[in-house]
Amino acid sequence: MKFHSLFDSDNNGHKSFELPGAHPHYNPDRPGQVEHIFLDLILNIPQQSFHGTCTISLTPVRSGINQLTLDAVNLNIESVQVDETAQTFDYDGEQLHIYLQTPTQAGKVIKIAIAYSVEKPQRGLYFILPDNNYPNKPTQVWTQGEDEDSRFWFPCFDYPGQLATSEIRVQVPQKFIAISNGELINTEEAGENKIYHWSQQQVHPTYLMTLAVGDFAEIKDEWQGRPVTYYVEKTREEDARRSMGKTPRMIEFFSEKYGYSYPYPKYAQVCVDDFIFGGMENTSTTLLTDRCLLDERAALDNRGTESLVAHELAHQWFGDLVVIKHWSHAWIKEGMASYSEVMWTDQEYGKDDAAYYILNEARSYLAEDASRYRRPIVTHVYREAIELYDRHLYEKGACVYHMIRAELGDELFWKAIHTFVQDNAHKTVETIDLLRAIEKATGRNLLFLFDQYVYRGGHPDFQVAYSWDGDSKLAKVTVTQTQAKADTNGSKDLFDLKIPIGFGYSQPESNTQAKTFKVRINQREQSFYFPLEEKPQFVSFDVDNYTLKTVSLEYPLPELKAQLKYDPDPVSRIYAAEAIAKKGGLEAIKALSEALQQDSFWGVRAEVTKLLASIKLDQVFESLVVGLKDENPLVRRAVVDALSNIKTLESYNALKQIVQNGDASYYVESMATKALGGMVSANLQYQQDETIEILTHVLREKTGWNEVVRTGAIAGLSQLKTSDIALSTILEYTTPGIPQSLRLSAIRALGSISTGQTPNNVEWILEQLEEFSKESFFLTQVSVAVALGQMETIKAIGILQSLADQTPDGRVRRMAEEAISTVQKKAGSDQAVKQMREELDLLKKENQELRSRLENLEAKAQVVSNN
Ligand SMILES: [Zn+2]
Repeated sequence: MKFHSLFDSDNNGHKSFELPGAHPHYNPDRPGQVEHIFLDLILNIPQQSFHGTCTISLTPVRSGINQLTLDAVNLNIESVQVDETAQTFDYDGEQLHIYLQTPTQAGKVIKIAIAYSVEKPQRGLYFILPDNNYPNKPTQVWTQGEDEDSRFWFPCFDYPGQLATSEIRVQVPQKFIAISNGELINTEEAGENKIYHWSQQQVHPTYLMTLAVGDFAEIKDEWQGRPVTYYVEKTREEDARRSMGKTPRMIEFFSEKYGYSYPYPKYAQVCVDDFIFGGMENTSTTLLTDRCLLDERAALDNRGTESLVAHELAHQWFGDLVVIKHWSHAWIKEGMASYSEVMWTDQEYGKDDAAYYILNEARSYLAEDASRYRRPIVTHVYREAIELYDRHLYEKGACVYHMIRAELGDELFWKAIHTFVQDNAHKTVETIDLLRAIEKATGRNLLFLFDQYVYRGGHPDFQVAYSWDGDSKLAKVTVTQTQAKADTNGSKDLFDLKIPIGFGYSQPESNTQAKTFKVRINQREQSFYFPLEEKPQFVSFDVDNYTLKTVSLEYPLPELKAQLKYDPDPVSRIYAAEAIAKKGGLEAIKALSEALQQDSFWGVRAEVTKLLASIKLDQVFESLVVGLKDENPLVRRAVVDALSNIKTLESYNALKQIVQNGDASYYVESMATKALGGMVSANLQYQQDETIEILTHVLREKTGWNEVVRTGAIAGLSQLKTSDIALSTILEYTTPGIPQSLRLSAIRALGSISTGQTPNNVEWILEQLEEFSKESFFLTQVSVAVALGQMETIKAIGILQSLADQTPDGRVRRMAEEAISTVQKKAGSDQAVKQMREELDLLKKENQELRSRLENLEAKAQVVSNN
């Protein structure tokens, strides 16, 4: 049976994941089993070059093979020997073909020794050095193999289906430390230099081989006697402990959860400069971006670093110990690593935080599905494997694990995970192996779930209506799967799931009680009748919210209000709040502002702020502004964001106070700074000069951790779209030498501000962006692509196209191409449409004022009649 068609052309109105040139990808034929890879290298850091030998021990799978093909990109191949005899070879810059003098004998190991050198490698291994613009940049060397970049720093059979032990011996200048996979088995002095010899004795794939070199501080921790080490730039020692210090506890936690003790002799985390990912789970040696290191103030409301540390650690089991055989199955590791962030959140912060975490993972997938494309999680049709590393792979993958857990129940879920890890340790897996482990451990066949959520795209969009028939004491719940069209064609988009529906009763002296029924939902529209002794106060659709879905509740207001107040699940309370906001009116504002002041969980308080702001009534401001006093900085951040949508003078002044008086949190300050700019651009034009002054003051004075606050000022300026001063200030901050994260935000801001600028200024912006697009640093290219994608001139397309053509990075290529189609669409919508939009906004505004007055009158009238 086939799970999904090769080319998923019918996407039900969604854009296609497959860009032109996408095609099926398979692992190559295997000439033999790679047993061991030994790299013996000498680094010349000032020259940005290295040379040495790569020795691969291979057990041929059959006799008579007389040619071997290895992946090797842009290396200088000097010689190839097999068992110490020189061989002839062909090298085209991408693949190395070795012609064996003696054909292979099945099972008889051969040793292939390749002498080579590399100068200024483009990928795989990165030299970080100070330069004129950044004289204080540290000197470092680090590698990044995933997905297919190890071939840029050593010749290899570069795909995850081959597992081997490995060894790296590397010579570096005395003052540097070299860190690699496994155990340090020897160090020796060599004149001005030092040799580090690392050995990884458990098999792993080439993409997890790593090397990191720098003048690092080494902070030693341990777990059950095994070294747990943090390497950071000197002076960041305290930040290192603050940011990674929970690692030993996490190792303990995951060892227990996965039913398999941490498998490697050590665990090192190295924070490196200019890293092109957040983190990379190289076997026993994770590399992290140094941007994740928190100072004391950032630690207040940054949970991202802790999640990153948990994610990469989880990969040591899911990814490194149990290896995916092909990239198309990468969700097994990325989904579990992302789900492990949820598990750790649960362990550390409790179940409300965990529920909110998985809701946000689902939302991030839903946003990609709605705006970018829809695809099956497992697909081997793509242009480059790196394109798969999206929100489907990570966040939707996590949601699938969450649903497996709901389907099996906690005990059986963990039993299945233990079986999967134990049966597949030090082996490669595909999705089917997970299904098999589940069946072996629990007897359950979950293919129906995988068919719906893994092998095809999409999710159910539920609309749920409820009514109570008091005479017959029947609760009626009608569920519609709106993603399926009403005609017969829609049936293929239907989901077939069992969903628990709960009826809640709050009792004054005790906890909320619920009566729960599980129903099978498999048609476009179904009505269910539940006989109940008493009228319920509220209805919980999908109790515990395990199902990946969207949901829109169409209940009467009293039931929604009761749910927002009493449902024990914060996610259900959020859904209720959303439905309340949709109803609008003063009653809605009252219910939501009560939640903002009283809900016990910060996530619900943060959510209701943006819902309040979505109700276009003047009374919202007063309800929101009290939230600025919330003790939780994450709530305050949400309040500030929500206030930015209420573009009135009093709201502006409230935010101005935060910018001027500061907040305990960098992020709150940054958000307020950004918001100020956005408010002026609407109907507070007369505040523009003052705002520019405030924002430029922030830029001058508020340098600090990762430039979070100043980045807010740049984002604020970018909203002053017609201002010359704002543009020239932003341009000033794009100059090389400006701290990198701030400079990147200024480059991105050029896109947003361009849409209100004169044609001359737009030309100038385009010229600047074209200049920046030539810089080779990954994050600069990303920023340029983001900026160009926001422009409304077809002239942006040419620059995007040449960026797409020239970048060595698949992620940038994809972004640039997606930006091209966005710009095409925007530039296509003509001036007339723009004018109509503006007129419509004005009408909406007038309407809001009228409605606000009316609601007030009605409220007063009600008070009078009640008396
Ligand atoms: Zn990952």
